[in-house]
Amino acid sequence: MKITVSVIKADVGGIGGHTRPSDALIEAVRKTVKNSGDLLIDHYIGYCGDDVHIVMSHKHGMDNDKIHKLAWDAFMAGTQVAKQEGLYGAGQDLLKDSFSGNVKGMGPGVAEMEFEERPNEAFTVFAADKTEPGAFNYPIYRMFVDSLSNTGLIVNKSLASGVIINVMDVEEGKIAKLSLWEDKPTIEAALMYPGRYVVSTVTTKQGEPILAASTDRLHNIAGTYVGKDDPILLIRTQKNFPATEEVGSVFNNPHYVAGNTRGSHNMPLMPVKLNSAASINFCIPIVEALVFSMHDGKFTGPFDGFSTPDWDYVREIATKKALAMRSQGFIHPATLVPSELEYAEGYRARMDILETKMVPIDDTISKSEKKENYEDPD
Ligand SMILES: [Mg+2]
Repeated sequence: MKITVSVIKADVGGIGGHTRPSDALIEAVRKTVKNSGDLLIDHYIGYCGDDVHIVMSHKHGMDNDKIHKLAWDAFMAGTQVAKQEGLYGAGQDLLKDSFSGNVKGMGPGVAEMEFEERPNEAFTVFAADKTEPGAFNYPIYRMFVDSLSNTGLIVNKSLASGVIINVMDVEEGKIAKLSLWEDKPTIEAALMYPGRYVVSTVTTKQGEPILAASTDRLHNIAGTYVGKDDPILLIRTQKNFPATEEVGSVFNNPHYVAGNTRGSHNMPLMPVKLNSAASINFCIPIVEALVFSMHDGKFTGPFDGFSTPDWDYVREIATKKALAMRSQGFIHPATLVPSELEYAEGYRARMDILETKMVPIDDTISKSEKKENYEDPD
């Protein structure tokens, strides 16, 4: 049976800042999705930091206007509550006034896959907050390219033969189809700069979908920066694909990602439990793992992938790395390069003042000083 899994997420308001949605906001989203009749086979609603995610199974294929409209309506209902409650950033990810066929380009993030359901279909959703789609470059590399991280790349026949990785240039809006293993160094060159090149999908060499990630960059959509484009990733696991623990373990080395407070810092990505609020300790970038089984489109789960005791140790590493990085304050690389700063306007205002105080170096050295400098010592 062909099933589509659609994961659509948006930030439509947080309690007292960019922390987490309110219970009433979540309830408004849930009520809208529940009242959708027989459109969906199943659904799950949760949140990661201030982002609400709706995981849906259905038979209507990808980019379906009814499915996208349902998510849009649900986020609109959540926005109404957020406004009533005075939540921070109410409706911030809904960039248009009315729905026009597809939520892509309208603010919410989308990760979708349509596939022939296996008898024991397994998939995991990774939801992240306070970061950007490129945050998944490093873990995806470890899953599909690095056999030191994933022994499955050696012993699993399908993975050993390589996969197709589609890499998107988020600045130019172009996509490149790259094939392992022949394009390995090119894939590495692309993944090197997560601010520009991000993985959008991964398939087997035969074209079977394995992974889909949200790749919209809100500041490109809106023309001006309206918030970090917190990403979501959907990946099928087991059998011909990486094992569930092979896709989970690639998050066990909290790597530095762009995001954090004011969307302007490099900080480690910390694996957290389901429905965690963003920390007010500089809002360390976070990621959750929603582990599902599915049969006939019906979900069992999610199991909380980062809930076992070992992940407490990883969280401790992330916290130490975060404090170490922020201990150097605003000095780069604690802060992002100017083109990636969320508050680029404020930074430019400072630089404009600096520019007015700048004079050519020659004018600051008096003629006599110059003469001394260039005089022959004897
Ligand atoms: Mg967010």
